[in-house]
Amino acid sequence: MPAVARHVVIIGGGITGLAAAHALTESARRNSSGGAGISCTLIEASPRLGGKILTDRADGFVIEGGADSFLAQKPWGIDLCRRLGLTDNLMTTNPEHRKTFVLLQGRLQELPEGVVMGVPGKLGPFLRTQLLSWPAKFRIAAEFFIPPSCHAEDESLATFFRRRLGQEALDRMIEPLLSGIYTADADQLSLLATFPRFRDMELRHGGLLRAMLVAKWREWRAGETSAAATPFVTLRDGLCHLVQTLAKRLERTTVLLNSPVLELRPQDGNGYELIMCDRSLSADAVILATPAYGAAGLLAPVDRVLSEDLAGIPYAGSVTVSLGFRKHDLGHKLDGYGFVVPRVENRLAMASTWTSSKWDHRAPDDAVLIRCYLGGEGREAVLKRTDAEIIELAQMELRLILGIQQSPVLARVYRWPRAMPQYRVGHLQRLEAIGGRLEHLPGVFLAGAGYRGVGIPDCIRDGMAAAENVGRYFDKVMPTFV
Ligand code: FAD
Repeated sequence: MPAVARHVVIIGGGITGLAAAHALTESARRNSSGGAGISCTLIEASPRLGGKILTDRADGFVIEGGADSFLAQKPWGIDLCRRLGLTDNLMTTNPEHRKTFVLLQGRLQELPEGVVMGVPGKLGPFLRTQLLSWPAKFRIAAEFFIPPSCHAEDESLATFFRRRLGQEALDRMIEPLLSGIYTADADQLSLLATFPRFRDMELRHGGLLRAMLVAKWREWRAGETSAAATPFVTLRDGLCHLVQTLAKRLERTTVLLNSPVLELRPQDGNGYELIMCDRSLSADAVILATPAYGAAGLLAPVDRVLSEDLAGIPYAGSVTVSLGFRKHDLGHKLDGYGFVVPRVENRLAMASTWTSSKWDHRAPDDAVLIRCYLGGEGREAVLKRTDAEIIELAQMELRLILGIQQSPVLARVYRWPRAMPQYRVGHLQRLEAIGGRLEHLPGVFLAGAGYRGVGIPDCIRDGMAAAENVGRYFDKVMPTFV
């Protein structure tokens, strides 16, 4: 039988879809000695690739509209950059300004040094901090004696930390730092789907402080010191450089922009037909790398239960506002990476990054760049405001919190409606149910931020895993084509 190229369609040109297409490209190149291999079509609804990654350049500023960096500890982001030859372009945060602040009753308090993902790791700074009251510090110390919970079910991030470290630590450190990543309500966020390592620390070591002590002791025994390097990295030319490089490296791949997929129809025999406004395409396998609600819409006519499960993953919206100011007469030193705002402060801003202090190459020498985050779960009304109103709101927050009176020389607003998946308690069970239903749809694969991690490295891993699953599927179901 002559070899026939198998056609894979990837719907969604965000980082997940791009990583999937790139992984398929790489595996096709490795296996290209024999048959015709794989051809791929990457279909994107909007006029550009990148999804939540969007970099703009204006007047010497490099402005990230969406994601601005990624975690280095999760290896998939850095590994991909390495494979793409982008290692020289990677940069870490500026060590000179290594401070983060928390807004407390309208004033900024420095987050104590050594706090790791909200959990104190150094005694001195923890005792000296004014972020926490003395009763709260005693309550945190008492965590040492609190036995681990014996129930294995999921619980919310808030329940877990309230139980282990107390309400004040939750309000002032955990909630703004951890649930802030998801722009979520900590009382709804699933511990097991977002930060399972905390449950693991509790179960394996008896508690968070005990686990920290064990880690420190191991470091000391191995002669290491806690990594001074920041956990975050970015690309000097902006994260769109990753998107552009990925797009350039795709082989055997047709990229269709401005092409929302409207329908996915199972074909008689096998495979699927994908309907767009002006054409249709046949596919032997489909990777749905859209947000979960997008996949829900496409799968509704095919499997109603699956579609409902997908539609049950809620998303929160937010806005980022980047403001450039002249350095001269700013009225604030911006000595830090920025601040986070606990929900209990009831402010419009969720957080602010002092972009040009945190990263080099983001503003001209005589200017600074600050980014504000507004919105988040339950506070999305701000997305409906005009750009001018949003800029005014951000400026007002900076005036009240940092005392910045100057008018910006640059202002950019980016709206992100339904952008951040909310992994609510029970999310992992939902994923199991989704996985079970997908078994009845051979050749359909789901990947993306909606499922197993919202960060860029997680999305890259998920896209690559989907590509691998496509390969396995072809090996199993269509071996004659190999
Ligand atoms: P998306 O980027 O949403 O891509 C999905 C694509 O599918 C979109 O381009 C969409 O147009 C397309 N699509 C949808 N439906 C269809 C259809 N029917 N047909 C064709 N195409 C379709 N993560 C970090 O690691 N670090 C950060 O600093 C960070 N900051 C963030 C800041 C903001 C404001 C936001 C919103 C997110 C941030 N994240 C960050 C999260 C991270 O950026 C995202 O989770 C990730 O980029 C999502 O990638 P994705 O490819 O799964 O989805």
